[in-house]
Amino acid sequence: MSIIIDREKCTGCELCIASCPFEAIVIKEGKATVNENCQACMTCLNVCPEGAISEIEEKGPAGRDITGYKGVWVFAEQRGGKVAPVSFELLGAGRRLADDLETDLSAVLFGADNPEAKELVRWGADKVYLSDDQIFGSFNDEPYSALLASLVEAHRPEIVIAGATPIGRSFFPRVAAKLKTGLTADCTSLCIDKETRNLLQIRPAFGGNIMATILSPNTRPQMATVRPRVMKRGKYDANKTGEIIAVTAEGLSSHTKVLGMIKEEGDMTCNLQEADIIVSGGRGLGDPKGFKLIAELAELLGGTVGSSRACVDEGWIPYRHQVGQTGKTVCPKIYIACGISGAVQHLVGMQSSDIIIAINKNPDAPIFNVATCGIVGDLYEIIPLLIKKIKESREHVVTGSP
Ligand code: FAD
Repeated sequence: MSIIIDREKCTGCELCIASCPFEAIVIKEGKATVNENCQACMTCLNVCPEGAISEIEEKGPAGRDITGYKGVWVFAEQRGGKVAPVSFELLGAGRRLADDLETDLSAVLFGADNPEAKELVRWGADKVYLSDDQIFGSFNDEPYSALLASLVEAHRPEIVIAGATPIGRSFFPRVAAKLKTGLTADCTSLCIDKETRNLLQIRPAFGGNIMATILSPNTRPQMATVRPRVMKRGKYDANKTGEIIAVTAEGLSSHTKVLGMIKEEGDMTCNLQEADIIVSGGRGLGDPKGFKLIAELAELLGGTVGSSRACVDEGWIPYRHQVGQTGKTVCPKIYIACGISGAVQHLVGMQSSDIIIAINKNPDAPIFNVATCGIVGDLYEIIPLLIKKIKESREHVVTGSP
């Protein structure tokens, strides 16, 4: 879709200019004109009193044949030869999409061995395209994107998804560009429009204030990335069998060479995406020292410390602890939000947690709308009480006293 302005009807009143969040409408020769900033968000559609603004359907790229594409593919990322957890989550989502389309689910695995490919089958894949070539030992954009693009061209899947990880974010756009197709990054939900077989790619937009559904109706394959811990894993079937197809990496080369990998130094206790329990602090802590209390509770529970962006922006805690739209997406068994209001940008990063416990002194704080259990009160009174109770209950377990 795109926007068109009828110059005959336009009176140059400028009302539409203020409605556009992208400064995409300008007055030229007394008439409103749409410039290249237009994102086709349709916000301006109803503001013109003369009805001069309308939407038009764009024709698909000339000569693009989108028929004959079949199957759902998941790019299965590996690290050190082991399939990364995000790949199993994507297989859960991919299985659902493939079942809705009544088609096969395939995984593509580079740089790992046959046992790892079999694991992908047990997590839901019907087929695995596997290359164990040495060139994939360390991640490198060029061979990754070249081989995935050529496999897609050869087998024509209708959907290809990958993790929105540093690897996925780096090479997957190159694949989309090679294939001249669309790519939606950081989807929070994926489903099928059964009438058109289009993939509905849902993700937050406009700073997280709306959820946008994005389509690629004119090109195939439809490509999307999903962050780790956003999708749930599917069923594991130890007896499931599938086809493993060896893929040759012959002729692949790269202009760059990975000389070595250096592990980031720092707080290794902050593995938010793998944590089962996260205790997060927000601006309600009032002071960076408040994170000592958060860390004490987290440690007692065997959990990890998270944070809202407000505290990261204040410099109270490093960015790697940030949960939310511009931080990490997490899905622990228990998420304890302390002094966090529950802005939508924070919620999109944690609302899939199994149990959410919120501590906030404002009973109307939006965090309580997603909380499984809410405690209204001052965190500096409640957290020490919680710590005391947990310690006491453990002493009872140890001493056996009631
Ligand atoms: P506040 O909104 O200031 O809330 C503090 C809360 O603490 C209040 O509810 C208050 O009642 C409570 N409180 C105060 N004192 C106490 C006390 N003693 N005991 C108990 N409760 C108390 N935010 C993120 O978190 N993650 C993101 O990734 C993120 N990305 C963003 C991206 C964009 C494009 C934009 C525009 C914003 C983003 N934000 C993000 C910011 C977000 O909009 C909020 O500003 C932020 O989440 C607020 O953090 P907060 O809840 O800690 O602070």
